[in-house]
Amino acid sequence: MTSYADFYRQSIDQPDAFWAEQGQLIDWHKPFDRVCNYDNPPFVHWFQGGLTNLCHNAVDRHLKDRADQAALIAVSSETGLEKTYSFKDLHDEVQRMAASLQALGVQKGDRVLIYMPMIAEAAFAMLACARIGAIHCVVFGGFASGSLASRIEDATPKVIVSADAGSRGGKALPYKPLLDEAIRLSSHKPNAVLLADRSLAPMDLVAGRDHLWNELRKTHRDAQVPCEWLDATAISYTIYTSGTTGKPKGVQRDTGGYTVALAASMRHIFDGRAGETFFSTSDIGWVVGHSYIVYGPLIAGMATILYEGLPTQGMDKKPNGGIWWELVEKYKVTVMFSAPTAVRVLKKQDPALLKKYDLSSLRALFLAGEPLDEPTARWISEGLNVPIIDNYWQTESGWPILTIANGVEQKPSKFGSPGVPMYGYNVKLLHEATGEELTAPGEKGVVVIEGPTPPGFMQTIWQDDSRFVQTYWKTVPGKTVYNTFDWGIRDADGYYFILGRTDDVINVAGHRLGTREIEESISGHLQVAEVAVVGVADALKGQVAMAFVVLRDAALLDDSAAAIKLEAEIMKRVDGDLGALARPARVRFVSALPKTRSGKLLRRAIQAVCEGRDAGDLTTMDDPAVLQQIKDKVAAA
Ligand code: AMP
Repeated sequence: MTSYADFYRQSIDQPDAFWAEQGQLIDWHKPFDRVCNYDNPPFVHWFQGGLTNLCHNAVDRHLKDRADQAALIAVSSETGLEKTYSFKDLHDEVQRMAASLQALGVQKGDRVLIYMPMIAEAAFAMLACARIGAIHCVVFGGFASGSLASRIEDATPKVIVSADAGSRGGKALPYKPLLDEAIRLSSHKPNAVLLADRSLAPMDLVAGRDHLWNELRKTHRDAQVPCEWLDATAISYTIYTSGTTGKPKGVQRDTGGYTVALAASMRHIFDGRAGETFFSTSDIGWVVGHSYIVYGPLIAGMATILYEGLPTQGMDKKPNGGIWWELVEKYKVTVMFSAPTAVRVLKKQDPALLKKYDLSSLRALFLAGEPLDEPTARWISEGLNVPIIDNYWQTESGWPILTIANGVEQKPSKFGSPGVPMYGYNVKLLHEATGEELTAPGEKGVVVIEGPTPPGFMQTIWQDDSRFVQTYWKTVPGKTVYNTFDWGIRDADGYYFILGRTDDVINVAGHRLGTREIEESISGHLQVAEVAVVGVADALKGQVAMAFVVLRDAALLDDSAAAIKLEAEIMKRVDGDLGALARPARVRFVSALPKTRSGKLLRRAIQAVCEGRDAGDLTTMDDPAVLQQIKDKVAAA
């Protein structure tokens, strides 16, 4: 057996040989003739000359050997629906969806925006786009009309696929009114909207624009839509993520490199085998949902569970903190993927629930998206008695950057560390100011990746190459390296520890939010003169957003009822613009915000004060009394 150290070394020293071999894990309609084209750094083109298709590798490829095996298991504890689609069923549904999209005018290279709850149709739509070479842009269903509008504007989709409603805790959350409002706000208008009607909420259909999936599905019942053979470098999808500006970034991914990266990760990292069941509790709106609910498991010939609902609600809609374990037992899940926040929610449930079900099929639980704290890791590790594997990655990377590749060599995990760099990732720690490489154990630096980035990694920012270069690759003095914007340290064994973001991005329950986006929403309130939003440590969600607002008319606050009303109004505004996830936990009113003498907002000092830490070096601060006022407000709460 190869040691992981050798495996890793080969990936960095001989990337062509390494990835040419990984490239054999998938089907090619035409083989690639160049493995890695890095002629124009930092842009990298993988598997040039090759023709392939993501949907073919996820679905059609398996028809020969496993047509009747389960492929997609859609489970909703919100509606009680539970349905298994075999690879053959999935093939049929995807072709119906592909034909419907084509009938609505979608062609190769067109964008299709998907704003859907966690229902099977969402996966059909993604796979259908991949099948016909359309570019999908999935927008998280929890986002509200403002966020959705800016994504419609940027992606300029020809068609939007959506549904009447999502559901949470048994309560319908209508999507259609939010979508209609987003389309109204956006200057780009889609040609058509395709809607799944779940009979959860009434829908007003716009004549000529809105179409029902149930009807088109019937029309295209027997559709046969062959896979479009695409250049390996053709765009498969974009997915929006937050950065330090209010404008979301469309992370763009290729076709061939991504398919190979997922196939390789299923083997080397997740150790998932054809015929088994994979269960990721994420949402298709996030990158984990793309890679490890839809594409990765299917490419590996596994069944994948698509779960709609809370982790604490049973199929009978009654409280049940064991629902996930019930599914593990029922579907003999071998590999599970979740987030630390979800485990912290489960930790509040009766621990006996972990013993109630037969979990003997499970080989490992992977957790990602946010730091995994030791008490949470220990609790779940003792409860499940399987390896708990933390993994660190980003929307940009598409698959893990740091973790343990147990499929290559069994290596121990260390509490608090996601692990070691994955094959293909030349990870370094650099000094923030000088850009000098830090090699001694325990030194804190910025985590960067040296190009060429591996297959599956983002190609660029959708329609903005220069923003891609400037945002990610030109931030360290004198070097062209990919900046993760995370702080890290490495120990003597080469294990990394992630210490939080270097920028103004916060992480709420494993979901990434830009404080600037929230600030922009709050600034839109007529009474607001200035606002600062920071992420503050939270025992359950990792972080929550906290807003500090300076009002145009401070006299308003003389009336405490007015302050309460304003706080509620501001929260409602954020809910309406961005969605409940972004809603600040509190809005506090202050007379001024701490700034440097040059006028730069000192968000980090505010954050430190909120968390009861030392605010650090304040020599550049304009007026220290301002920070004291924030301290007093926080202390008084
Ligand atoms: P996202 O793009 O939403 O996946 O967020 C990526 C960010 O989440 C990273 O840059 C980290 O700040 C954080 N993150 C993701 N996974 C981990 C992890 N395992 N440990 C610590 N932080 C993580």
